[in-house]
Amino acid sequence: MTEMKPDDQYDYIARCKCGCGAVVIAIMDDPDDPKWTAEEVADTVKRGYNVDRISAAQLRSLPFGCQRERQKRAAPGGEQLSILGKEEKP
Ligand SMILES: [Zn+2]
Repeated sequence: MTEMKPDDQYDYIARCKCGCGAVVIAIMDDPDDPKWTAEEVADTVKRGYNVDRISAAQLRSLPFGCQRERQKRAAPGGEQLSILGKEEKP
C-alpha cells in the first residue's frame, strides 16, 4: 500500500472516460524524479485522458474506480482504478 500523503501534496489523476467522474488513474507525483512523473502523465494523456493535478486531500474525497461499473459489473467503457507509483515498478 502507498502511505497517506500530506494534504498539501499534489498528484495527477485521470477521470473515467464514461463520464461518471470517478478517478481511474492516480499518478503519485515523485519530487525526486520529475521526469518519471512527466512521462507517466504524457502517456496517460496519449491514451486519451484529461489529466488533472489535485491535492492529496481532494484525491481522497473523489470516488475511485468507475461508478457505473460498480453499479453494473462489466459495463461498457467502465474502468478500474490504476494507481501508478514509481516504487511499484521493478
Ligand atoms: Zn465510469
